[in-house]
Amino acid sequence: MATGKTQQDLDFDVLVVGGGPVGMLLAAELRISRVRAVVLERLPERTPHSKAFGLHARSLESLDRRGLVDRFRDGARSWNNGHFAGLDEWVDFSALDSAHAYALLSEQTRTERLLEERAAEVGTEIRRGHEVTAIRQDADGVEADVTGPDGAYTLRAGYVVGCDGGRSLVRREAGIVFPGTGGRVTARLGDVILADRENAPMGMERTERGLLFCVPLDDTYHRVSTFDFQAEREPGADLTLDELTASLREIWGSDLGARDPRWLSVFTDSACQAERYREGRILLAGDAAHTHFPVGGQGVNLGLQDAFNLGWKLAAAVHGWAPEGLLDSYDGERQAPARKVLANTRAQIALMNPDPYVTPLRELFTDLMRRDQVNRYLAEMLSGVTVRYGIDGPAHPMLGDFARDLELRTEDGVRTLPGYLKRGTGVLLDLTGRPEIAQVYEKWGAGVSWAGRVRHVRAACAAEPELSGLLVRPDGYVAWAADRELPEAELRESLGTALSTWFGTV
Ligand SMILES: Cc1cc2nc3c(=O)[nH]c(=O)nc-3n(C[C@H](O)[C@H](O)[C@H](O)COP(=O)(O)OP(=O)(O)OC[C@H]3O[C@@H](n4cnc5c(N)ncnc54)[C@H](O)[C@@H]3O)c2cc1C
Repeated sequence: MATGKTQQDLDFDVLVVGGGPVGMLLAAELRISRVRAVVLERLPERTPHSKAFGLHARSLESLDRRGLVDRFRDGARSWNNGHFAGLDEWVDFSALDSAHAYALLSEQTRTERLLEERAAEVGTEIRRGHEVTAIRQDADGVEADVTGPDGAYTLRAGYVVGCDGGRSLVRREAGIVFPGTGGRVTARLGDVILADRENAPMGMERTERGLLFCVPLDDTYHRVSTFDFQAEREPGADLTLDELTASLREIWGSDLGARDPRWLSVFTDSACQAERYREGRILLAGDAAHTHFPVGGQGVNLGLQDAFNLGWKLAAAVHGWAPEGLLDSYDGERQAPARKVLANTRAQIALMNPDPYVTPLRELFTDLMRRDQVNRYLAEMLSGVTVRYGIDGPAHPMLGDFARDLELRTEDGVRTLPGYLKRGTGVLLDLTGRPEIAQVYEKWGAGVSWAGRVRHVRAACAAEPELSGLLVRPDGYVAWAADRELPEAELRESLGTALSTWFGTV
């Protein structure tokens, strides 16, 4: 029971519960839209253990739209390929139609540090060592009981977002169910010293008894993970070094001299998704909304995309200009990508099963992956670049898709589209100077416009000679597109509708 005083006035606009990668990015996204957000993170310090290793193309494209990709790329290695289900044929990311056709090697500790630095830089209050213990909501706001280093207190805010991981308290408090499939595979992970370093395999190896993942982390430590498809394990018990080495011997035939663990963790292939991502003033993002086996390196990436999608919509709700349905479109748009990731991780697990019964399927799939079209399909799926949203408007191939890195000739010189999205507003590209675009944007000279929510940019784009105008949302997705031949009346009506659907009335 909290002992702190409950204030009638809001302490913050938004409480972000959990300061993992998703919470930190979401808080930064809210701050650039001038929302008073606080991150409440129970750990007093960032964890030194990295779950994830990498960032995929769509995350990098999105970070680029906030001017952040260089700090992620700085000093980090990238990979042109990755594995799918541990099969012998690799997925080739260099075939992606993206300015970032690779996977970036960025350990989760580094990703979290960079995102925390970003959140702090834009003025987010970050409270470490503060655990949220209960949430209540009423018609006007939410209250959170928090236990911090100086005792318990209560905060009141307009909204709470649970970015508090797979075991989310916020999700439970909101009464949101988390259905899915239970775990059949036990993964045992250790960051260990290998006495038998010379004989350690590299990457994913399959034996008849399971799979071994083994990579060097630095000059001293290796990460080893065994994937056990058979043995039932007592749920909840912590992993010990003895259990890990026994599992290595069982699956690989040798424990490689594993010793001195600096991190041990055990997890399963259970895959669950929140039935809905919003309950009134409580929302969920990242692992709080969806969990799955970490095959294909997709979890952080999926969560970061939740944050990019939610940040500007929640900011609009806080500032009171969110059009009806805008905040609910977060759930509407983000459920499907998570469903697809859960499905592809389940498919990968099925292919990884070492049972010889699956071998012909593995061989067939490996053969298929040698075909460019199939390989590219998988690369696009893992890297998230096929995500597009069902947005209404005049039919156009770009509608609902992520806007490309268009090169634009403006009166200030040559620029690219991502540069105009840095401040987290929308962008209306006016590419042919058709007067009606500016007229709609400025409400026919009524003295008001969407400025502040949407930036109007006049430019020429040699790569898209047919394109007359493009409305890009703050998360980089195309909310309206018009070619030159779109009749004037239709252009006026559809652009006005798109602006008010996504950016409210002015
Ligand atoms: C072994 C492993 C390998 C992985 N590899 C990859 C990979 O290569 N690529 C990839 O994209 N993903 C990978 N993932 C998945 C990825 O790590 C997660 O998807 C990611 O951490 C989710 O981020 P998050 O911010 O949503 O949640 P988390 O990282 O779980 O952060 C939640 C935060 O909330 C805090 N918190 C929890 N409860 C409270 C509370 N009540 N009050 C205050 N704070 C609270 C926690 O302390 C934590 O800091 C891997 C996962 C595992 C287990």
